Amino acid sequence: MDPLEKLNLDIATLGVHAGEHLANTNDVTPGINVTTTFKYPDNQEPMSHEEELEAHDSFMVYSRLAQPVTVRAERVIGSVSKAHAVLYGSGLAAFHAAMIHLNPKRVFISQAYFGVHAVLGILKRNYNVEVSSLDQASEAKKGDLIHVETPVNPYGISYDLSQYAKIAKDTGALLMVDATFAPPPLSNPFDHGADIVMHSATKYFGGHSDLLAGVLLTKDEQVKKQLLSDRDHLGSNVGSLESWLLLRSVKTLDMRVRTQAANAEKIVKYLVENKDKLPKLKSVQHSSLQTEEFVKKQLPLGGPPVFSIETVDRQSAKDVPAKVKLFAHATSLGGVESLIEWRVLSDASISDTLLRVSVGVESADDLINDLAQALK
Ligand SMILES: *Cc1c(COP(=O)(O)O)cnc(C)c1O
Repeated sequence: MDPLEKLNLDIATLGVHAGEHLANTNDVTPGINVTTTFKYPDNQEPMSHEEELEAHDSFMVYSRLAQPVTVRAERVIGSVSKAHAVLYGSGLAAFHAAMIHLNPKRVFISQAYFGVHAVLGILKRNYNVEVSSLDQASEAKKGDLIHVETPVNPYGISYDLSQYAKIAKDTGALLMVDATFAPPPLSNPFDHGADIVMHSATKYFGGHSDLLAGVLLTKDEQVKKQLLSDRDHLGSNVGSLESWLLLRSVKTLDMRVRTQAANAEKIVKYLVENKDKLPKLKSVQHSSLQTEEFVKKQLPLGGPPVFSIETVDRQSAKDVPAKVKLFAHATSLGGVESLIEWRVLSDASISDTLLRVSVGVESADDLINDLAQALK
């Protein structure tokens, strides 16, 4: 147990200091550790897989089972998320790991990241997993899965989790939340009935567009052990360098995400209030424009740092990313640098007049001026 956990510290503090008790040197910042294998102690006796999992954080044998940098990254991400964290090589690998672990017969899902739908497409093809829309969630049975992404890609709007949590509770189904768009400190889906939470850690946990990783979060220590066991057997681990980059990144998670969320809200407000001066702008979607009670409950600090714009026509949507100077025209989100994407380039199911904007940590006023000149 992390001695800091007794101190009731804020996410900003935990991001910097959680997991320090696991350090095996006196380095202030942990080193990259690339060994795949570890020397057995003298007189080592055989251990069962259960015993290996029990000793997971301190006893290293082979890096597919555990290695010190990943263990520390899991500790700090778990700590800021108030849950147990298990890391994977990507967000989609994390989603797939959840499917393997939960083994649902039927998954209820609507608008969600296209790659999550693609994973379900494979499971449907190979194992006849049934995929239904969230509208049908009341038909769920014990062991089925309700998957809600909120705030949802690419729009940045929020869905009411309490409604799905109630259905899950009444039917015995499980509720999984993809909270990639609202990492700590913006949201905690466990407070709203989630059984398991996933993030693409490539986005805000990484925060610098330089690593690929995914994470599953659970409140249940047994589930964590089973996920670690499955991961050891499936080999879907995150790399050591990526774990190290995550350790660096989570130190600034709180300040980055607060700044990015505040910037996004300021830009959205400007666009909505000045729509008549921006001839290429048709509409804006973001959680801050939703008036329902639940949005404030799920996102008490505001956010997310992603919003979407509809332009007046297809040509404008194609032109705007070429006219902005501070936003890179690129897919992905969550990094400190602002991005804009003509979304139909990576998701054919999305309207060809939609631009997805991922707001970085630059000055909000500079970003506003840049976006405004392009939308004129
Ligand atoms: C990016 C993303 C994923 C997939 O994560 P990868 O790390 O790219 O595999 C899943 N869900 C959401 C909401 C995402 O934005």
